[in-house]
Amino acid sequence: MLTETDALNSHDATLDGEFALDIGGELVEPTTWVDDLDPATGAVLARVASATAQEVGDAVEAAKAAAPAWAALHPTARGSLLRDLARLVRRDAEQLARIETRDTGKPLTQGRADIAAAARYFDFYGSVIEGFQGDTVPLGSAAIAMVDHEPHGVTGHVIPWNYPAQISARSIGAALAVGNATVVKPDVVAPLSTLHFARLAREAGFPAGTINVVPGDGPTAGAALTAHDDIAHVSFTGSVASGRLVAEAVARRGRPALLELGGKSAHVVLEGADLDRAAPVIARALLLHAGQTCTAGTRVIVHRSLHAALVDKLAVLFEAATVGRGLDDPTVGPVVTRRQQERVAGFVERAQAEGMAIAAQATIPDGLDGFYAAPTLFGDVPQGTELFGEEVFGPVLAVTPVDSDEEAIAAAENTRYGLTAAVWCQDIDRALKTARSLNVGQAMVNGYAAGGGVELPFGGTKDSGYGREKGVEALREYSRTRMLFIDLAGA
Ligand code: NAD
Repeated sequence: MLTETDALNSHDATLDGEFALDIGGELVEPTTWVDDLDPATGAVLARVASATAQEVGDAVEAAKAAAPAWAALHPTARGSLLRDLARLVRRDAEQLARIETRDTGKPLTQGRADIAAAARYFDFYGSVIEGFQGDTVPLGSAAIAMVDHEPHGVTGHVIPWNYPAQISARSIGAALAVGNATVVKPDVVAPLSTLHFARLAREAGFPAGTINVVPGDGPTAGAALTAHDDIAHVSFTGSVASGRLVAEAVARRGRPALLELGGKSAHVVLEGADLDRAAPVIARALLLHAGQTCTAGTRVIVHRSLHAALVDKLAVLFEAATVGRGLDDPTVGPVVTRRQQERVAGFVERAQAEGMAIAAQATIPDGLDGFYAAPTLFGDVPQGTELFGEEVFGPVLAVTPVDSDEEAIAAAENTRYGLTAAVWCQDIDRALKTARSLNVGQAMVNGYAAGGGVELPFGGTKDSGYGREKGVEALREYSRTRMLFIDLAGA
């Protein structure tokens, strides 16, 4: 008989059981089940619930019932539960890492890193909430005002398929810490780790209704959540097109939203860059989770004097990249769906049709039946092309030579996105000046610490969205200030 451990360790086995809705602290049988495919094999991995609008409404009701008591708790009590949840995530880390790997396709090392980061989010928000204090405003001897932080009430969280564990944890970690009750909608493509977090939260002793998880599709479950009158704040991570629909739905009700919508992030490699230091980081930042990372550095803007040498170094790294099933821990696993695989192939074909040459490409071994896309390096990509401007969300890197720092900055800014960027140059004045001139949410110098930084405020400009996740900043996002004025004139 197949055990759960067998299933977790085998690319050929489905995961035990069905993954129901998690509403009001209980597993709820859904109206609709859908197949969750294993990207490594294309076979059915698990059967998961796909919530209807009614079921999303039930989850919102459960959260609404739980919200006042949760908000009224001492912050230490909420923080302590979050830290207990972090402990349980660490206890089950290997199981969760294998679930995340099988559900999303990413290499096991990356699955493990994601679960470690998820535990850190719960720990971080469980800890910093205790020091998240309000303020007083001096108004002379006749009055004083206090400013404190109030939760929004019930918050809605729309989670994409690329980093479900990390994105769920960072988003609900902050929202719960400040006293919101949450309704989380993971994508049916990869909902399993988020559902496991809800089970662990129950074990930790979270009150019923504080964490409700309703996997579902965008047009039905996502739309029902974001349009619901009792959702006081929405955090959304995903595509620009869906993000705009969400923003419209939330604005129609006059409520706030946070949008994290991806990017076309640039590595700006100036004269004086240390290429031996830069090349491996650039390759890794792109190949991580097969390029399906919103912060993936997908464009390299390089000074012409370093262009050939950098392309050569990147080519070696791309050709050496191994492609395989996530549990076998290659450099690059499959992309998440057949649709994503076709999307990536389309970008590569159109770039070649436009006359761009592939400088290096990794080999996909025979015998892999899942959704694989070969890591591909284009060494000379003109500005104005689709590959220069559009987010591929696959393992495709575009290198573009320029002739000056000014041209490099202009090229880096020549995008509708503004998520992250990195500047590479050993002349620190020049590197800092360039980094500070870039219109992005996170700029880095001689490194690429994007994404993973639990304590680093994260979000975009331009089409990459607005609002900030991560860090203490997210506690402000998931709360609102309330001013309390006390008139002492007659005292
Ligand atoms: P998507 O935007 O459709 O899906 C992301 C999430 O939004 C999912 O949970 C989905 O169910 C939900 N959603 C979709 N439409 C919705 C709606 N109308 N209302 C509420 N929720 C809705 O993204 P996708 O189709 O899965 O991927 C397409 C592209 O999006 C990718 O190629 C990539 O460019 C981008 N993407 C970006 C990120 C990121 O981290 N920023 C993550 C995933 C996808």
